[in-house]
Parts: sequence; C-alpha cells; structure tokens
Amino acid sequence: RAKENGKNRIERYEAGMEESNRSRAALAMDLRNAIGNDEFEIYYQLQNDTVTGKALGAEALLRWHHPERGMVPPSEFIPISEDTGLITQIGEMVLRRACHDAAAWPNRMRLAVNVAPKQLLDDKFIRIVQEALLESGLSPDRLELEITESSIIADQQHALHVIRQLKAFGVRIAMDDYGTGYSSLSTLHNFPFDKIKIDRSFIADLPGNDHSAAIVRATLILGKALKIPILAEGVETEEHIAFLKNEGCQELQGFFFGKPMRLNRLNEHFGELTQDGSAQENDCELRS
Ligand code: C2E
Ligand code: MG
Ligand code: MG
Ligand code: MG
Repeated sequence: RAKENGKNRIERYEAGMEESNRSRAALAMDLRNAIGNDEFEIYYQLQNDTVTGKALGAEALLRWHHPERGMVPPSEFIPISEDTGLITQIGEMVLRRACHDAAAWPNRMRLAVNVAPKQLLDDKFIRIVQEALLESGLSPDRLELEITESSIIADQQHALHVIRQLKAFGVRIAMDDYGTGYSSLSTLHNFPFDKIKIDRSFIADLPGNDHSAAIVRATLILGKALKIPILAEGVETEEHIAFLKNEGCQELQGFFFGKPMRLNRLNEHFGELTQDGSAQENDCELRS
C-alpha cells in the first residue's frame, strides 16, 4: 500500500513537473513578444527615511500584464528571462523607462532599479546605463542600482570592475536581499556599496523572533562600522518600525508606506508632498 501511494505520489509529482515545464516554456515564448506588445509596466514602491518618515525615492518593480494569464509576478518571469537571456533586453527597457520617469520627480527623489547578474556582467551594460542617464537627463547620483550577491558570485573580478566604473560616474550601488546569499561578510568588505537592503524575511517576524532580531541588530551594527546605510525591506507594521527606529536603521520600504504603485499614482503622491508640506505627515497612511 505504502509503496503504491509513493508511486502515485511520484506520478502526480512528475505530472506536475511536466505541467510546470510546459507553462514555463509557454511563458518563455510569450516573453519574447512581451516587449514589442507593450505588455510590461513599471510599478514604483516608496523608500522612506526612518526618522522623518519622508519619501527619499522609489524602487522600480516590473509587472507583466499577460494577455491571457493576467498579471504574472516577477518571481515567475524574471527567472525565465534570466535563463533565456531575455533579461538583458528587458532590463535595458526598464532602465531607460524608469530613468525617464524619475527625471520628472520632485525634490531629487532617488530611483532604485534592480539589475540581474547577466545584465551587470554584460559588456554593454555600462554604456546602457550612461545612455539611459543622458537621454533622460537624470542626474547619476539619483540612480541606485540594486544588485544581489549572485552577481558577485558569478564573476567577482568583473563585477567589481563594472561597479567601480559605475560609481566613477556617480551612480550608487545597493546590495539587495542581504542575508539570503553567500559570503556576505567578505562581499561587504571588498565591495564599495552605498546601501545594504536587509531581506524582508528577517523583518517579517520582528520583534518577537529572537533570531531575526539578532540578525537585524548585527547587520545594523555592521553597517554602522562600515559606514553603509541600511534599508529594511518588507516593513509592514508599526511594531517593525518601532524596532527598526530604535535599532538605528536609516531607511524603510514596505507595504506600511505603500505597495508598489503605478507611475500616475506615485506622481499624485509626490505632487501632494510638494504642494502641501503637511501631506508628508500622512505618508504612513498611504496604501495603494
Ligand atoms: P526585490 O528587488 O527584493 O523587491 C522587493 C519585493 O518585495 C517586491 O516584490 C515587492 O513588491 C515586495 N515587497 C515590498 N514590500 C513588501 C512588504 O511589506 N511585504 C511583502 N510581503 N512584500 C513586499 P515583486 O515586485 O514581486 O518583485 C520580486 C523580485 O523580482 C524583486 O525583489 C526583484 O528581485 C525582481 N524584480 C522585480 N522587478 C525587476 C526588474 O525590473 N529587474 C530585475 N532584474 N528584477 C526585478
Ligand atoms: Mg530590489
Ligand atoms: Mg530585495
Ligand atoms: Mg529579491
């Protein structure tokens, strides 16, 4: 009986794999046409100063409106676009459009853009960044590129070379999803990061979970020693904010301050901030 159950389970599992391979292959095909069909839209999520609560800028987060499947999350299509190599083309589109959008934002709001390993290590990447900045007129110090440790693991020497060149013309570099990769300490020591983003998995169960609290505290101490500001991702509650404020975390990002939103919604929000100083007090109430 047990054996038969096991066999059935394996068959079901294999059937499931086949199904998911099929949908992956289908999605990969559709992805090829998605740029031309204008199916992508960039959403933006606010990043806020912990002490003042004021917006400092926003992170570009890509959305794919699939004609039949509706919204496909980046957790599904980014890995496929990385495997197929389409990420270089998609990433270039994001960078150009996001720089263009951000050039119109007020108060020198910063723009954060995610960069996949294949993009960062692509020979044309530096030129693409320069072109996006020139075309849009966005000042380089308003652009922050978010990279993960997987970029560095792929080719440490080359990654360092690219990052140094980008920083030489004023672009900022952030380490994304900190704590989820490998060799974090030597990476922080060897790479000139302008910001560290603590992964939201460590924020989710603050302040009650002792392990998460210890990891976040240790990261904040490390950031202080290395003089690198820390941003906490996935901030959802007053309790998260109270803990992070008390421990000296500089920047916050998460649903508490707003979900990723359409550009017109973000511009409305920025418009309110510039027209009426008191609106900044209401930052915290923003939900999309
Ligand atoms: P990420 O760069 O770490 O982005 C943060 C993710 O956390 C976003 O998911 C955001 O919607 C989500 N998030 C923000 N605040 C909260 C919160 O309070 N609670 C919870 N539960 N989640 C929160 P999203 O938009 O689904 O993107 C997932 C990942 O896909 C990103 O993680 C990034 O790695 C990748 N990605 C998105 N857009 C791009 C892109 O244009 N290029 C590249 N290369 N990767 C992208
Ligand atoms: Mg990011
Ligand atoms: Mg992240
Ligand atoms: Mg991530």
